[in-house]
Amino acid sequence: MTQYDFSGQTAIVTGGTRGIGAAISEAFLAAGATVVATYAGNQAAAEAFAARQAAHAGRLHLRAFDVGDYAAAEEFFRWFDTIAPRLEILVNNAGIRRDSVVGMMACADWEAVLRTNLTGSFAMSKFAVMRMVSNRYGRIIHITSPSGKFGFEGQANYAASKAGQVALMRSLSKEVARRKITVNCVSPGFIDTEFIGALPPEQLKAYQESIPVRRLGQPAEVAHGVLFLASREAAYVNGAVLEITGGL
Ligand code: NDP
Repeated sequence: MTQYDFSGQTAIVTGGTRGIGAAISEAFLAAGATVVATYAGNQAAAEAFAARQAAHAGRLHLRAFDVGDYAAAEEFFRWFDTIAPRLEILVNNAGIRRDSVVGMMACADWEAVLRTNLTGSFAMSKFAVMRMVSNRYGRIIHITSPSGKFGFEGQANYAASKAGQVALMRSLSKEVARRKITVNCVSPGFIDTEFIGALPPEQLKAYQESIPVRRLGQPAEVAHGVLFLASREAAYVNGAVLEITGGL
């Protein structure tokens, strides 16, 4: 998959130690970037990821904090400034779901999903953009979801957060385009990670049958699209949603 050269560039990948985020971090490392992979608190998964990437240990940093906590995000960037001279790439991948129909949804589940998926993307983008503007270069990519476009049952909180990421992306992409910063989204379909592994088997089967290519996607297939959007060659792709869904 490594056809891009990100040598000398630094990428922050939130939720970058598991699932889709781990595949994105891995792809950037293989393409020569320095990667800061953040996570919420699953230390064992982070250590296992680092062990798999031992060949790139000099270019991999791990950092645990809650992306939905604005002050923690600010503190993270203060630390970031001590380890990297510039920031070229931010991938807002960290995400959670707390599914329930609206009538039964706990307010705490609504708020937790919006806070992590949307407020987290805002806070990380805000602090990233402040650094990219002075460098007059940057790539910001949010990992959204078809749920935000179609609105799947039982996912009102998740769908709202994912549609919100697209709206955030569209405004921000206009604000910073003149500074040679692009902002885009990748919308993966049903990807084979722990995130959907917890779904009831009959629901998973129904999802699979609804995918024209009749299979789940692989995290590496999503990573490939992210690297394209993060490349210098993608300078004219701005304010777009790249769907990697098997034709969903
Ligand atoms: P996983 O559950 O496998 O991984 C989620 C990652 O996000 C973990 O690294 C986790 O950290 C981190 N994370 C969760 N909450 C926070 C938080 N508050 N602060 C910081 N980090 C956090 O998810 P996937 O890889 O499947 O999904 C990644 C993204 O892709 C999500 O945004 C999801 O919405 C989106 N997506 C996924 C699809 C799929 O089919 N899998 C389809 C469409 C979109 P830790 O390891 O510490 O728990």
